Amino acid sequence: MKGGAGSAGLRTEIQYVRGVGPRNAPLFARLGLATMGDLLHFYPRRYEDRRRLPPIGSLRIGESCTVRGRVVAVRTQSLRGGRTLLRVRVADETGAVELTWFNQPWIARRLADYRGEIIAFGAVKDGNRGLEIGSPEFELIEPDDDPEDFRRIVPVYPLTEGLSQKAVRKAVRHALEHVAELEDPLPERIRAEYRFPNLVESVRQVHWPTSMEELRRARERLVFEEFLGLQLGIQMKRAETGGEPGIAFPISRLACSPVGGGLFAELARVEGDRSLWDEVHRMLPFELTRAQKRVIGEIWADMERPHPMNRLIQGDVGSGKTAVAACAILAAVRCGYQAALMAPTEILAEQHALNLRRLFEPLDIRVELLVGKLTARQKAHAAARVGSGQAPIVVGTHALIQESVRFARLGLVIVDEQHRFGVLQRAALKAKADVVPDVLVMTATPIPRTLSMAVYGDLDVSVIDELPPGRRPVKTHWKRPSQRASVYRTVRELVAQGRQAYFVCPMIEESEKMQTQAAVDLHYRLSTHDLSNLRVGLLHGQMKSAEKEEVIERFRRGEIDVLVSTTVIEVGVDVPNATIMVIEDAHRFGLAQLHQLRGRVGRGAEQSYCILIAEATSRETEERLEVLVNTNDGFKIAEKDLEIRGPGDIAGVRQCGFADLRIANLVTDVEWLERAREVAIRIVRDDPRLERPEHRKLRETVRRPPGEASLVTVG
Ligand code: ADP
Ligand code: MG
Repeated sequence: MKGGAGSAGLRTEIQYVRGVGPRNAPLFARLGLATMGDLLHFYPRRYEDRRRLPPIGSLRIGESCTVRGRVVAVRTQSLRGGRTLLRVRVADETGAVELTWFNQPWIARRLADYRGEIIAFGAVKDGNRGLEIGSPEFELIEPDDDPEDFRRIVPVYPLTEGLSQKAVRKAVRHALEHVAELEDPLPERIRAEYRFPNLVESVRQVHWPTSMEELRRARERLVFEEFLGLQLGIQMKRAETGGEPGIAFPISRLACSPVGGGLFAELARVEGDRSLWDEVHRMLPFELTRAQKRVIGEIWADMERPHPMNRLIQGDVGSGKTAVAACAILAAVRCGYQAALMAPTEILAEQHALNLRRLFEPLDIRVELLVGKLTARQKAHAAARVGSGQAPIVVGTHALIQESVRFARLGLVIVDEQHRFGVLQRAALKAKADVVPDVLVMTATPIPRTLSMAVYGDLDVSVIDELPPGRRPVKTHWKRPSQRASVYRTVRELVAQGRQAYFVCPMIEESEKMQTQAAVDLHYRLSTHDLSNLRVGLLHGQMKSAEKEEVIERFRRGEIDVLVSTTVIEVGVDVPNATIMVIEDAHRFGLAQLHQLRGRVGRGAEQSYCILIAEATSRETEERLEVLVNTNDGFKIAEKDLEIRGPGDIAGVRQCGFADLRIANLVTDVEWLERAREVAIRIVRDDPRLERPEHRKLRETVRRPPGEASLVTVG
């Protein structure tokens, strides 16, 4: 065992690391670096292979490059609006390139009299004076620099203002003198399995690579280790909660009880399942899709186990999650338990109650709606029926669980659109029932499969990856603001045919007030000018909920032709006669959100349309809008979103600790995530608390999922 004097070195405060000092220490602290050891685990964000840089004459437009050359001219131009443009001309024997910066007086001062060599990194574009690199990262090559630093594979670290690459590199280099003190948490057999370099070698390579190949191996090992820490946390939590006692719903024995053993039990099981399937077929007005049947089977199997179910149902808008939920509810009720369905808004709760009543009332099963807008008297009566068990099915908002509603025999909790809630409290659930009930979460925010494993690692995931037959995909078009007139014409034509339209205003994140204002303005413009002959309604988040409901109700009854709305319509408004949605400033929305919004149309038999209005402000905007125009598949859209924006913005990723990965990348390293998960499952199966000596160090790397109290946190 190492330690003692050795690891004291790694614990050295950052300000005493050579090359840091008290002046720079607070800057390192801002990067989260407090000790020498922290520096070793502060991984570069990218590398520059400076061993063979391209001659300037060979640069190509559109590529990101590192260039090296001599500064030959520096000019600052004044632009309109008080802005300045700094142009720095850099040349080698083969050609010249302009580096440009807007409003960077300190760079201008730094370079004004500098005529030495510079290294710059950025995307090459076609400027008006030839090749240009806008806002590059750069380093000056100064006399006291180690020339080696400009001839090797150089790490580029994340920085904070006031701190230079050179300062960080120097500090890391000194910290590397202590690298041998690091203890490797990976057990020997795992290292051997993947032929990983050991920790000391990996850390050294990652900061000071001797070749691209060595760097790759070192990085993979560190990526694996980081994922393993997270996956171990998830698997350990699963092992703890998975063993908890729960309800074993006797689904297989429904038809023939009591049950004997052996062959009879087997027959009874088939019979029981079949009798419930038969009832499902009688209950639903349509044939289930294969995907729905599979998912229902998975849910029922979970419900039979004597441990709490913890399952997530992912299904695109319109994939028929409600029918699946109804089948789970039916099973619970037939086994003698109560089921609660919770929706994010009262509007949506009412809609669910309406749908469930249509299915369950013919079976003589009562559906209770318990929401805030009921009178005190109505509430008391409903609550009494829930408490006595007369109400086997209860639909409400999250308040169902938070408030003092008492259940007689709660067995199943279904949460719709969980991402609106944040957290579902385990403790609150436990308080509602003697045994922890089974929990089913439904989400229409598709997450790429690979990611869901990371994000929902402690949940079982079922995917409804098929739409009911006969759906007409929504046709999506991207229009420039200058083409508005044609959009209005289309809307008028559709309304003349008896259809209805949505106009959605851009989300303005900073301010709900501004968003409301945008809706009010648009409503004014449409109702007085562009669509003045139509009945235009308005819906936004700052309206009272009674007002909101009234507007939605009027829209549903067809008394409003065009509904101008903020994103409040994203969830729960279901008007099949609305067949066109116009989304203003579509580039301001995330892809997943646009897809979600689009799901409000295409709900009836008529062809539906979604019109995205946006200027092509950037390559990224174009790419994103094209995705939406070209596909209706929520999972594909989610994959693309992940590719374009990275995982940080995907619902749920931030909360589960995957946003602050130190080295791993959720998009490009996903194969290592899968391997780490397999290994974590194996380790936890053999040693659930990592108590074996070879797991002692590994235990320190485990990152527990946040919020032990929460079942799931999404968005
Ligand atoms: P989700 O909640 O997944 O967006 P819903 O459960 O609201 O979808 O279903 C959307 C619509 O499709 C509803 O009108 C529902 O009745 C209908 N539906 C669901 N499953 C099927 C099916 N297998 N065949 C035909 N229609 C279906
Ligand atoms: Mg739904």
